[in-house]
Amino acid sequence: MKNSINDVNLPKKKSAEEISRAKSIVNILKEPVVVVDEDGSIIQANSEFYSTFQLQRKEGFEVGLRDIPFFQELNEVLENKQLRKQGIIDLKISLELPNEVKKNFLVNAGLLDPQGNSSDSILISFNEVNVKPIGKRNEKNDLQEIYEIFSQAPAIISVLRGPNHVFELANENYLQLIGNRSIIGKPVREALPEVENQGFFEILDNVYNSGETYTGSEVAIKLYVGKQELKNSFVDFVYQPILNDLNEVSGIFVHAVDVTEKVTARKKLEDSENELRKLIDTVPAIIWITRPDGQNHYLNKNWFEYSGQTESESADFGWLKAVHPDDEKRVRETFMKANINKEDFTISFRLRNWEGTYRWVLDSGSPNYSADGEYEGMVGTVVDVHEEKVKEQLIKEKEHRIRSVIEEADVATALYTGREMKIEIANDAMIELWGKDHSVVGKTLREALPELEGQPFHGLLQGVYETGETYWGKEDPADLLIDNKLQTGFFNFTYKALRDERGEIYGILNMAMDVTETVKSRELLKESESRFKQLADLMPEKVANTDAHGNFIYFNQGWLDYTGFTGEELIGKGWTNFIHPNEKEEYLKSWRNSLDSGKDFEMEFRYLNKKNRYKWHLSRAEAIKDESGNIQMWICTATEIQKIKLEEKRKEDFLKMVSHELKTPITSIKGYVQLLLSLLKKEKEEEISGKPYEMYLERVDHQINRLTRLISEMLDLSRIEKNKLDLQKETFNLNNLIIETVQDINYTNTGHNIHITEDYNCNVYGDKDRIGQVLINLVTNAVKYSPFNPEIEVKINKVRDNKVSVSVTDFGIGIRKENQKKIFKRFYRVDGNNEETYSGFGIGLYLANEIIQRHSGSLKVKSEMDEGSVFTFTLYEALEV
Ligand code: ADP
Repeated sequence: MKNSINDVNLPKKKSAEEISRAKSIVNILKEPVVVVDEDGSIIQANSEFYSTFQLQRKEGFEVGLRDIPFFQELNEVLENKQLRKQGIIDLKISLELPNEVKKNFLVNAGLLDPQGNSSDSILISFNEVNVKPIGKRNEKNDLQEIYEIFSQAPAIISVLRGPNHVFELANENYLQLIGNRSIIGKPVREALPEVENQGFFEILDNVYNSGETYTGSEVAIKLYVGKQELKNSFVDFVYQPILNDLNEVSGIFVHAVDVTEKVTARKKLEDSENELRKLIDTVPAIIWITRPDGQNHYLNKNWFEYSGQTESESADFGWLKAVHPDDEKRVRETFMKANINKEDFTISFRLRNWEGTYRWVLDSGSPNYSADGEYEGMVGTVVDVHEEKVKEQLIKEKEHRIRSVIEEADVATALYTGREMKIEIANDAMIELWGKDHSVVGKTLREALPELEGQPFHGLLQGVYETGETYWGKEDPADLLIDNKLQTGFFNFTYKALRDERGEIYGILNMAMDVTETVKSRELLKESESRFKQLADLMPEKVANTDAHGNFIYFNQGWLDYTGFTGEELIGKGWTNFIHPNEKEEYLKSWRNSLDSGKDFEMEFRYLNKKNRYKWHLSRAEAIKDESGNIQMWICTATEIQKIKLEEKRKEDFLKMVSHELKTPITSIKGYVQLLLSLLKKEKEEEISGKPYEMYLERVDHQINRLTRLISEMLDLSRIEKNKLDLQKETFNLNNLIIETVQDINYTNTGHNIHITEDYNCNVYGDKDRIGQVLINLVTNAVKYSPFNPEIEVKINKVRDNKVSVSVTDFGIGIRKENQKKIFKRFYRVDGNNEETYSGFGIGLYLANEIIQRHSGSLKVKSEMDEGSVFTFTLYEALEV
C-alpha cells in the first residue's frame, strides 16, 4: 500500500527565491532530504527522499509530513518550536515503511534560513544506519555494512572467516600494517606466515572455538612490511567472534590499534629513566634532589649505603641528623639560603657514615628548573673528600707551623718556593739583614735583591733545588744594597731543600747569620796579633800566648832561644813537660784554677833549658777579655829568677846558720841576765841604789827577748821549709793565753794601751806556744805600725760553726790593698815604710799564717791606709772542755 498525499491544506505562498534555494540544496545531496515549512508541508524533496520512503511526487502542490503516518514521531519533534529552532542532530528514529520494512535513520534537521527573517523552513536529512549493539555480531548483519562503517575508521580492521581464519575483509590500515600484501581469501597462517609462534594464531583458534572475545593490550607483533623486512609493532586488539543465525561462531572480527609509537615512546622513557637511575646509582657520589620548600625529594643508593639511614629517617630534613653537630647549623643555613635565593652553593662539612665515623664531604647543589622554567628545588652531589681535607688540614697546619717558626725565629730565615725562588716568607731578621722592607715578600729573589746578580747565590740555590743537598755557607761574603750603598757583609748560612709529601722539592729554606762583625774583628785581631808578636819577639822576656782554653798557640823568640825548639815543636811536645816534676803538679792545678776562674796566674817553677838544666822562672799569665768579659786569650810571661832564687837560698842558709850559732850564746846570756836581775831585786843595797844597773839589765833582757824571738822565727822558717814544724797540741783556755800574752807585752811596751774584749770564753785544742807566738806577732806588729796612736784592741768572738776568732786592731799606718796579700809571703815587707822605724825581716806574718793554717784555721787582714789594720785569726773550738 502506498500513502497518498491529499490536498488537505493548501500550501502557503512561498517566495520563488526560497523555493529555488531549497530545490538546489536538496538536489545536490545524495541522502534522502526534505525541506518542510513551519506547517510541515513539503516544499522540496529530492528523489532519494521519495524512493527511500516509497512516496510519489505530486507536482503542483505539496503534502505535509504530518500527513504521512510513519513520520508521526518526527512530526511531534518538529512541532516543538524550541527544538525546531535549535535544529536536530543525529536523532535516531525507526520508521516502519509501507512494505513492513523497518529502517533506522539518523535524522538531522536545521532551519534553512537560520536568521529566520523570511521563513521557518527546515531542512531534514535522513541517514540510514544499521548498527547492532556491541557484543556478539550476528551474521545476519551485512558485513559490507560493517566494513563501510569501519573502513574509514583509524582502526585496523579485518574479518576472518571459518576455522582457518580466512581473510574476508581487511581495511586500508590493516593492509598497511602487513605491507599491502594480498591476503583476501587466504587463511591467516598462509597469509601471514611470520606470525607463526607469536601466539596470535592460537588466540584466534581459541576465540573461534570458545566464542569468547579476546582483548590484548600492547602486544608485540612482528610483521613483514617489505620483502624481507620484519617490523616490530605493538597493538591493542580485540578478537570478536561473529555468530551466524544459529548462534554459532562463523568468523572473527579483528579490531586493532597500532600503539607502537606510544609503547616505544614509553619504553624509551622507561629505559632512559632506568638508565639514569642506574647511572645515578653507579656514580661514586651521593646525589640528592630537594623540593622547592627544601624538603628531601630523592636520595640515591649511595646516600643510604654511606649514611646507613633508612628512607624514612632521611625524609624531610632527616638527612641533617647525619651532619656533625658542630657543622649542622652552618650546613642548614647555607642550604636554606641557596634554596631561597635559588643559587648554587658548595660547602664542606663532616658527615657521619654508617659506622658512626665522621668524614669530610663536599656538598654542592644547584637550582633545578622544569622545562617551562618553574623552580623545582635543588639538585646536588655529596663527595667524600676526607683524605684531601685531612691532608689539606695537615698541610695547612704544617705551613702554619713553618710560618710561625720562621716568623718567630731569631735567626734570619726565609722560605723560597719554586725554581724561580719566590720569597714566600721572610722574617723581620732576614728583611733587616737584606736591608729591605716587607714588600719583598711575594717577589722572586732576583726581583727583590737584584744586586745578587753575578754573585754565587743564585747558582747555589739552583744547585740545592736540583740535588736536594744542603749548602752550608761559612763566612761567605755577600754584597747587599743597603741604604742605597753596596755593602759587603759576611754570613754563615744554609740553603736547605724542602720537600712535599711526595718527596719532591718545592722550595728552599734559607737561614742566615750576619757574622760580619766577627770576621772583621778577627781580621783586626789578626793584625793586632801580628803586631803583638813582633813586639813580643823583641822582648828579652819569655812571652807566650794561649787561646781561651789555655792551649798554647804562640811562643816568642825568648822561649825559642831558651828551649832551643821551634814554636810548633814546643806546642807539639807539650809545653808542660818541660816543667820540673816537683812543681808540675802544682802548676797544673793552679793553671786550671786560673783558666776556670779567669783570675791571674802567678807561680815560680823550674823550666828545662836547651842545655837540659832547670832554671827558676816566675811565670805570670793574664787573661785578655772582650767587652762582655769573655776570655779571648791568655798572655803568659816567664822571667828567669834563677839568680834571685839562689840569693834567697843563700840568705836562708845563712840565717839558718846564724840563728843556730846565735841561739846558744843568747840563751846563756839570757840566763845570766835573769839571774843577775833576780839577785838585784832581792838585795836592794844602798851601794847599788842610784845606779841604773837594773834598768840596763832590763834593756839587755828585752833585746835578748827580741833576738831570741827572731832566732826562733828563723828556725821555724827553715823548719817549715823542711816541713818539720812540730806542733805540741793540747787543750787550753784561749782567753787565758791572750790575757797572759798581752800582759807580757804590756810589760815591755808601756807606750800603748792594749785593751782586751772578751765576748766569749773558750778552749781550743792546739799548740799553745805557737798560738801565743802568733798573738805576740800580731800585737807587736800592731804596736810597731801604729806609732802615733796608742790604742790597740784585742777581741775574742764566737763565730759560727764552732769557731772562735781573735782580732787585733790598731789605728796605725794601715796597708795598701794591693799589698794585703803579699804581706803573708816570707821576706815581704811593704816598701816605703821607714826601715829605721819599722825594723823587721818580713817573716812574722808568714809564720803566723803557716801556724794558723796548720791548726785548720785562717788568718785575714782588713786595712785602710792611714786608718789602721785588723788582723783576725780563726780557730776551731775544742770539743771537750
Ligand atoms: P816585719 O818583721 O817586717 O814586721 P811581718 O811579716 O810581721 O814582718 O810583716 C810584714 C809586713 O807587713 C811589714 O813589713 C809591714 O809592712 C806590714 N805590716 C804587718 N803588720 C802591720 C800593721 N799592723 N800595720 C801596718 N803594716 C803592717
